[in-house]
Amino acid sequence: MSEPNDARPFIPSGGGFRALREAAAGCRGCHLWEPATQTVFGEGLKRSRVMLVGEQPGDREDRAGRPFVGPAGRELDTALKAARIARDEAYVTNVVKHFKFEERGRRRIHQTPKRFEIEACRPWLDEELAQVRPEALVLLGATAAKALLGSAFRVSRERGRLLDSELAPIVSATIHPSAILRAPDERARMAEREAFAADLAVVARALRA
Ligand code: SF4
Repeated sequence: MSEPNDARPFIPSGGGFRALREAAAGCRGCHLWEPATQTVFGEGLKRSRVMLVGEQPGDREDRAGRPFVGPAGRELDTALKAARIARDEAYVTNVVKHFKFEERGRRRIHQTPKRFEIEACRPWLDEELAQVRPEALVLLGATAAKALLGSAFRVSRERGRLLDSELAPIVSATIHPSAILRAPDERARMAEREAFAADLAVVARALRA
């Protein structure tokens, strides 16, 4: 028998946001649920003005069951503050809702999700977008940007710009905050931090316009 590769059978036919979140907890739409601890669904108010979409939960997020609570989440919080976007006005989620990793000894090393895994999980993100209907959608990193804007999209070339898209009135892409943590030294880290906050500030200005 072939592996399941579609979250759609798990999407509830009604019941709003709460039903969606509860159903996602039981999703078996692809193989990623099995080694992971739990589904990490999006978090934030249903009427958030900004939606930020990353790649997938990390080790901390998998254990906590909440998105962006680890070191990358702290970078995101700092940049949102610098850009004057209130975190409680932002809905945060990922294109893939289960942590994909490889075990090396006692460590769980992040693995980039494959295209079929991203496609399997996409119905959850589509539902989140339909429920939240954000004014601004910010894609964090290449995986999220390519998943929503096409495989030819290059974050390095287009970051910090306002993009033409039907996904939301304001759409932009930037790096994933985990890229800041991978910078080779403190000076590079500071530069990445500033550039990331500047990209988010473009969105903040567009929201105020
Ligand atoms: S990664 Fe997405 S599609 Fe796969 S089991 Fe988890 S929630 Fe379902």
